[in-house]
Amino acid sequence: MFQDITTLLLDHTTFQDTVDIFVDRYRNMDAGIAIEIEARGFMFGPSIALAIGAKFVPFRKPRKLPGKVICEEYELEYGTDCLEMQVDAVQQGDRALIVDDLVATGGTLSAAIRLLECMGAQVVECGCVVGLPEVKGQCRLNGKPVYILVEPR
Ligand code: IMP
Repeated sequence: MFQDITTLLLDHTTFQDTVDIFVDRYRNMDAGIAIEIEARGFMFGPSIALAIGAKFVPFRKPRKLPGKVICEEYELEYGTDCLEMQVDAVQQGDRALIVDDLVATGGTLSAAIRLLECMGAQVVECGCVVGLPEVKGQCRLNGKPVYILVEPR
């Protein structure tokens, strides 16, 4: 069952409230970078990054980013996919938040965590608007905290 967050985006107040909840939570966490995962993470991440004064770093599907990139593979229900990041975007010791619209199996977030740890960055938290039942009750992923706004029944 596909969870569609575009209905949330159509309601200005709900969209603003959603961003504000993340901003209030992350404003004092001393995170210098906010990682946004293509594509739906881009709908929430930039507003959060701007409001908390963090660098916006996109993690994208293969062959979309210019320059030198590193790639991390992860498993899908059928097959595999990859996330890429620019190697110069993250420095050793950076404190990073990861933002995406939804977590289901956690495979995408786990790949993002591995990419960041490979660069020596510290993952402060993963924040998702929706958490599917697969992760219900599971508030940590690869040892990292996951913050979920809505858990559909
Ligand atoms: P996971 O890797 O299984 O946790 O899947 C999460 C990723 O797949 C996120 O980047 C989501 O944007 C996308 N995704 C998976 N299922 C859905 C869905 O039902 N609605 C919207 N996005 C989904």
